[in-house]
Amino acid sequence: LLELKQLKKQFKENHVLKGIDLSVNKGEVIVIIGPSGSGKTTLLRNINFLETADSGTMAFRDQQIDLSRPTKEQILWVRRHTAMVFQNYNLFKNKTALENISEGLVFGQGKSKLEADELAEKALDQVGLLDKKGFYPSQLSGGQQQRIGIARATVLNPDIVLFDEPTSALDPELVGTVLHDMKQLADQGQTMIVVTHQMSFARNVASRVAFFADGEILETGRPDEIFDHPQHERTQQFLSAIA
Ligand code: ATP
Repeated sequence: LLELKQLKKQFKENHVLKGIDLSVNKGEVIVIIGPSGSGKTTLLRNINFLETADSGTMAFRDQQIDLSRPTKEQILWVRRHTAMVFQNYNLFKNKTALENISEGLVFGQGKSKLEADELAEKALDQVGLLDKKGFYPSQLSGGQQQRIGIARATVLNPDIVLFDEPTSALDPELVGTVLHDMKQLADQGQTMIVVTHQMSFARNVASRVAFFADGEILETGRPDEIFDHPQHERTQQFLSAIA
């Protein structure tokens, strides 16, 4: 479904991504783990062109894209077929829960307001927040805001959802509800790339785990391979430091 080849990105002298190769098959949940500041967020942001890479290619569905020179059409096309869930939710503060979800359906997909509202209500119902449809983000807990963030992403029916540390801003007791929604999505066959520090999620839900450090993917494997038999010394160090 998606294949990155030799994605490189630097900020001034800082080589943040040093040539990333990553392939994602339909229905897979790829979980990216690794130390803070190693470039995981930057990797996601280069996939949907929130940043532009210095070099590298991306094959996505039937399109072959030069990551350093995407056309406007390619950028729009990729954004139409992917969705991102952010660390800090990024909801529109002056819009209700329902409007946050329906907005993309109206303006991104050209649906009528009535149809968009119906789909948004269904999405809210799925995450158990239909009774909050008229609430503004400031009236919701972090966990509720993030679940709306996830509903907003998935209602668009994207090929891939990119999750950028979706639980790291949450109080510990709210983390579980968001992970539960993510697991449910995975069980429904949604293809996802998830950057997270939640190792239990990585172990239980990932199809493949990629260990990322210093701008490189050092190893990739099934969760049991990475957690029980890490090959790379850096992976071993990281896992024993967080155990
Ligand atoms: P964390 O887990 O802490 O979020 P991360 O692995 O996601 O870390 P990134 O946020 O991708 O790491 O940052 C990687 C490096 O790139 C950091 O050194 C950061 O300072 C740098 N960086 C990221 N974005 C920019 C930017 N827009 N301009 C300059 N430097 C940046």
